[in-house]
Amino acid sequence: MGASETAGKAAAVAHRVLLVSDRDADAELIRALLESTNADPAFHFDHTHTLSQAFENLERSEVDVLLVDAGEGEGRELAEASQARVRAPLVPVVLLVDTDDEVLALRAVEVGVRGYLLKSAISPGALTWSLHHAIRNQRMFVELNIARERARQLASYDELTGLANRMLFHDRLEQAVAAVRRNRDRLAVLFFDLDNFKQINDSLGHLAGDALLRLVGQRIGSCLRKSDTGARLGGDEFAILLTHLDDEEDAEKLAAKVLDRLHEPLSSDADSPAISASIGIALFPRDANDTEDLLRQSDAAMYQAKAAGRDRVARWKPEPGGPRAAMHSALDRRLREALEGGELVLHYQPVVDVSRGRIVGAEALLRWRHPKHGLVLPGEFLPIAENTQLILSIGGWVLRSACAQAARWQALGHPGFRIAVNVSPQQFQPEDFVRQVRATLVETGLRPDCLELELTERSLLHDGERTLAQFAMLRGLGVRIAIDDFGTGYSALAYLKRLPVDTLKIDQSFVRALATDPADATITATIVQMAHALNLTTIAEGVETVEQMQLLGSFGSSRMQGYLFGPAVEPDVLTRQFEEPPFWWLRDAH
Ligand code: C2E
Ligand code: MG
Ligand code: MG
Repeated sequence: MGASETAGKAAAVAHRVLLVSDRDADAELIRALLESTNADPAFHFDHTHTLSQAFENLERSEVDVLLVDAGEGEGRELAEASQARVRAPLVPVVLLVDTDDEVLALRAVEVGVRGYLLKSAISPGALTWSLHHAIRNQRMFVELNIARERARQLASYDELTGLANRMLFHDRLEQAVAAVRRNRDRLAVLFFDLDNFKQINDSLGHLAGDALLRLVGQRIGSCLRKSDTGARLGGDEFAILLTHLDDEEDAEKLAAKVLDRLHEPLSSDADSPAISASIGIALFPRDANDTEDLLRQSDAAMYQAKAAGRDRVARWKPEPGGPRAAMHSALDRRLREALEGGELVLHYQPVVDVSRGRIVGAEALLRWRHPKHGLVLPGEFLPIAENTQLILSIGGWVLRSACAQAARWQALGHPGFRIAVNVSPQQFQPEDFVRQVRATLVETGLRPDCLELELTERSLLHDGERTLAQFAMLRGLGVRIAIDDFGTGYSALAYLKRLPVDTLKIDQSFVRALATDPADATITATIVQMAHALNLTTIAEGVETVEQMQLLGSFGSSRMQGYLFGPAVEPDVLTRQFEEPPFWWLRDAH
C-alpha cells in the first residue's frame, strides 16, 4: 500500500484512483502505466488489497474512481463491484479482468460498472481513457440527476410550503392504491381544512396568510414518516397520504398529533391567532373502491368534522344501512357460504430450483370458484374476510388442505417436497395458532420441515415480542417461516437478524425491473448476499423471463417461482408436471 504522485507537473487537481487488487504485481503494473502517462489532470494512485480496506480508505479521503480487479471472474468480484456501488454510489467503478468474458461484461453493465479493461490488452492510452471517461460520465450523471431533481421539484411541489402539490399527491395516491391492491395492505388519506383561515387572511393580509400556510406546512411535515406524503392541495386545504397502515387507529393518532402541533401558539404574543383544522379520514380498501372514491370520502369526513364543531377529527362512516355497508355484509355472507359449500379451492404454483432443473415445492394460492363470476383471485375477496373472523376459518381450511395435498405428493415419491402456505396477520394473532399448526401436521402426517408458513412484513410489526415468541414456538415444531414480498414493507435489516426466519421471498417488483434497472439489480443482489450471510434461503417471485432467471442465478438465488415456470394450477395438473416438467429447457438455458 502507499501513495505516489504521478505526473505531478500537471496543473489541474489530480484524479484519485484507488485500485482494489490482492495481487501486488498487478498493482505495480497499473502504477507503472499511470506513471508513464502525461494525462492532464494527472492521476494520484493508491492501492488496497481488499474491498473493506477500500471502504475504510473512502471514509478517510476522497476517491474519484475505483478500479476493481476482477481476477479470475467467478462472479464473486462482480458482487464486489455491486457492493461498491451500494456503499459508495457516487464513486464510479472500473473493472479490470484477466480474461475476456462477454457474459461478465454484460452483467457488469447491469450492476452499474462504468468501465471494463482487459489486463492483457491494457495500454497507457486505454487506461487513461477508461478512467477519465468513468469519472466524467459519473459527474455528468450526478449533474443530470441534480437538474432532473430540480425540475421535478418545481413541477411537483407546492412553492409556498415545499409539500407535494395536488398533482404529485394524486400520482402517489394512485401508485399507493395499486400497491395496496397487490399486497393486500391498507392506507389512509387525511384531508385537512384550516378553520377560520379566511378571516385571518382577510384581517391580517396576504403576506401574513402566506406565512401562516408556510408554518402549517412545516408543522404537518414535522409529524410525518419518510414514507408518508404531505401535500397542499390548494388554498388552505392540506392532505396526508399514510401508506403501510398497520393499525387503523394509527391514522387517527397521526391526525390528533398534527392537530396538537397546529394548536401550538404562533408566538408569545397573546393576540396571535390560534390555528386549528377540521380533519377527515378515509381508509382504503375499507371505505372506498378507488382513488376518486377515497378522496370523496375523506372530503366528506372533513365536512362531518366541520359540522360537528370544527377543530376535530372525523373518520368516514358509512350511512347506517347504506349501500357500502350492505355490500360488505352481503359479500361476507356469500363468502362464508362459499367456504362451506366447497367453492373455495387451492391452486398450486411450482417452486423450482433452477440449479437442479426440478420442482422442489409449491405455494398454495387460494381461489374462489364462483358459480357466476368464474375463478376469482384472492385480492378480490380476502380483504373482506380479513375484516371479520371469517379469515380464521378460511385460513384453517387452507392450512389443512394444503398440508394434506403435500403429504399426498410426498407419498407419490417426492419426499422432500415443500409446501408454502400464506398466513394472514389476523390468523397469527390468536394464542392457539401454534396448536392449530401442530394438530394439522399430526392429522396430515406431513413432516414439519416440509411446511413453510409465509408471512408478510406487515404481520411482523404487530406486537414484536409476542410475534417473536410465536415464531420461536413454530420453529420449535420444526416448521419453516418465510417473509413474503420481502422488500416492499419496512424490512428493517437489523430486525431480520433478530427474527427466527428461514426464507426471504424476494418481491416481484424487484424481479420485474431486474434486467432494466441497475438499482434494482443491485438491491436484489445485495438482498441475496445478505440473506446468505444470515443463512437464509431466498426464493425469487414473479420470474417471467429467461433473462431474469439468469441474473438471479448469477446472484446465487436458485429457487424461483413465476410464470416462466408456470402459474398456479389445480393439483392434478401439478402432479403431471412432476413427471414431465414443462421447463425441460431449463438445464440447457442455465
Ligand atoms: P403472494 O403470496 O405473493 O403470491 C404470489 C402472487 O403472485 C400470486 O397471486 C401469484 O398468482 C402471482 N404470480 C405468480 N407468478 C407470477 C408471475 O410470474 N408474474 C406475475 N405478475 N404474478 C405472478 P394471487 O394468487 O392473486 O395471490 C395474491 C396474494 O393473495 C398472495 O400473494 C397472497 O399474499 C394472498 N393469498 C393467496 N392465497 C392465500 C391464502 O390461502 N391465505 C392468505 N392469507 N393469503 C393468500
Ligand atoms: Mg406468498
Ligand atoms: Mg409474494
